[in-house]
Amino acid sequence: MASVELLIGSRWQAAKGDGQTREVTSPFDGSTAGTVALAGTDDVETALVEAEHGAAIWRRTPAHERMRILLRAAELADERAPKIAQTISAESGKTITEATGEASRSGDLIRLATFEGTQLYGETLPLDANRGTGQDKVGFTLRQPCGIVVAITPFNYPALLVLHKLAPALAAGNAVILKPATSTPLTALALAECFVDAGLPDGVLSVLVGSGSVLGDALVTDPRVRKISFTGSTATGEHISRVAGVKKLSLELGASCPVVVLPDADIEAAASAVAAGGYVNAGQVCISVQRVITHPAVTGDFLDALVPKVRNIRTGDPSSPDTTMGALITAEEAERVERAIARAGADGARVLIGGERDGAVVQPAVVADVDPQSPFSQQELFGPAVAVSSADDWESAIAQANGTAYGLGAGIFTSDIAGAVQAIREIDAGSVHINWTPLWRADLMPYGGLKGSGYGKEGPRAAVSEMTEVKTIVLHGRPW
Ligand code: NAD
Repeated sequence: MASVELLIGSRWQAAKGDGQTREVTSPFDGSTAGTVALAGTDDVETALVEAEHGAAIWRRTPAHERMRILLRAAELADERAPKIAQTISAESGKTITEATGEASRSGDLIRLATFEGTQLYGETLPLDANRGTGQDKVGFTLRQPCGIVVAITPFNYPALLVLHKLAPALAAGNAVILKPATSTPLTALALAECFVDAGLPDGVLSVLVGSGSVLGDALVTDPRVRKISFTGSTATGEHISRVAGVKKLSLELGASCPVVVLPDADIEAAASAVAAGGYVNAGQVCISVQRVITHPAVTGDFLDALVPKVRNIRTGDPSSPDTTMGALITAEEAERVERAIARAGADGARVLIGGERDGAVVQPAVVADVDPQSPFSQQELFGPAVAVSSADDWESAIAQANGTAYGLGAGIFTSDIAGAVQAIREIDAGSVHINWTPLWRADLMPYGGLKGSGYGKEGPRAAVSEMTEVKTIVLHGRPW
């Protein structure tokens, strides 16, 4: 790949527009991570024309041949994982340890999706159970690719969130146009290169780097696109759902994820899990622990256990293996998080530790006595701070957990199995974890939110299902 070319129709090409390029820099120290070509609306049109052609070829390619190519892409992703990890860390400010963990999941994720792409089963229909229909007919369903899938991804997991769309879409036989986050395009291009080098046919994959609103609107409103898979903020997701028209749509959006700590919980274990789950990737995770709801009987013990663990988090140069928390994606985002923490303090909460900012790095914070109705609880923070508030009984704890516009993930710490089972049923979130925080994901599991956190599921099996369509076929044995 020449880094200043666009990938259009599985081939590296010069951008059609005025040849604009963009330097991608590290949010930590401004160092250059690479340079990318920026796409314009002309390139969107070229990519769509290519994708129509690619979709026609790829849907006629037998699943075993698709599998062969995608398994080769998985091998290449494995081989290139150390380099991809460096790219993730350089362009996103994530620690090299976290970036290595992310990149190392790529090959397996492609393999899981590839397998699911070979499992496009249908069902036979017992038509004769319908009164007036005899046994002269046979009905069955046939699952086939959607055609052109537009994948739009955010900055926070530049490898995994790209692959959770690309791999199932390609495995199911679709052509894909990827619009990665403007701040993290290099990782997306490096992963796309694995698929191209593995032998993906012409037309099947394009990666368009550039303005979200310009490229995004051109892509999501185009009638040639059948499926949009979007991960990002609730505001952008709402916009897409307004303008997209008649298309299949999956929206993986924002969150303010709760953890409930009941009086019978293992407080030390809960504090350790929150000290990880609130600060991974500097809190820039959709399933990050944003709110902890404790019973007043254990709030003090919980905070006493949590604060020293948070104090042990080491911020600094993301490329150093000694750093355990890196930078936020931009200094502006870090300023926003710094302001939100300061405002919570000014509104009456207690900032027990953290909240200071240096460039794009915010010190990890614990904020106690937070009003559950305050913006600090209600609005997605997407930064390294945890808000702790109390609830007097089980019902009010669950009501508080459910008391935001979001519903992506939740956790509950308790040793009471009956309470845990009740919580599983009552908490309105796409995933509920007992004795762990919401910050946990196995790539194969169904993953996606309720309420303002969106709709549709990712995870290879679920995504292949959402990136395919069902046809009903009826064979009429007699023409009357
Ligand atoms: P964002 O909404 O700003 O951007 C996401 C993507 O949308 C980017 O590629 C951007 O360029 C593009 N975009 C912007 N305007 C667009 C438009 N008008 N049409 C089409 N695309 C457009 O989000 P972000 O700041 O990159 O990511 C953070 C957000 O993502 C957080 O809210 C986080 O919770 C969410 N997120 C959700 C999940 C999940 O699984 N639910 C996972 C990761 C991140």
